[in-house]
Amino acid sequence: MQVRVLGCGTIAGRTGRNCSGYLIDEQILLDCGPGIWSALYSAEQPLKQINHILLSHFHVDHISDLIPFLWERWVFEDERESLLSIYGPVGLNSWFEKMIIPHHDWIKDLAISLHELGNKKTEVGLYTVETRSTGHTTNSICLKLSDPRDKSLFYSGDSGWNENLIELAAKCDLAIIDSANSSENKTEDHLTPELAARIASSAGAKRLMLTHLYPEVWDTDPAEEAARHFNGEILLARDRLVVFF
Ligand SMILES: [Zn+2]
Ligand SMILES: [Zn+2]
Repeated sequence: MQVRVLGCGTIAGRTGRNCSGYLIDEQILLDCGPGIWSALYSAEQPLKQINHILLSHFHVDHISDLIPFLWERWVFEDERESLLSIYGPVGLNSWFEKMIIPHHDWIKDLAISLHELGNKKTEVGLYTVETRSTGHTTNSICLKLSDPRDKSLFYSGDSGWNENLIELAAKCDLAIIDSANSSENKTEDHLTPELAARIASSAGAKRLMLTHLYPEVWDTDPAEEAARHFNGEILLARDRLVVFF
């Protein structure tokens, strides 16, 4: 499996990083926040290869580049009819309906299917995805994506401390976990590098990627803090980082 970090930043304070977005095996997009559309262009990733988008929740730092993404598909007429499947939390259908109101005159030309993800395994092309709620919003989800070789990626989306993350991340090859807060400034709706490490450790994850860091966390040594609680390999997310496993 290949994971390309398109954006690891947040909208809370400017860090020069794109907001949330990860490209899996050049074909599945995980979240689509501000900066992701142009990051795909910079990485020379043709949008027509991406026929699956997974959304963790509907906060602006995770979804705002969906409209530019869809617009580019519409501009190239041969791509309009190729099916784009969008997966997300329960509520995806009504959210999408409202979101496209100002754009309906052209979005109606695109072939899009929407899939609300519950707790059951769902097929995403040749991959499977499983989700659990995170409690960050009423319907936010974390997810585990497994490929045909049984390699697995866990993505927390945004989350505070939640045992669901440990359950779903069990024995994954890479856990990408929200580490927005510093230990001095904990909140209920995000994790810290220490808590992300504790989750990865309890889950028996092989590698941990710390992501979605607020500016104050970049001023600390998040990888060193996480290493006190997790024995596996620790990666500090950065835009354009590519990981293979
Ligand atoms: Zn959020
Ligand atoms: Zn976020």
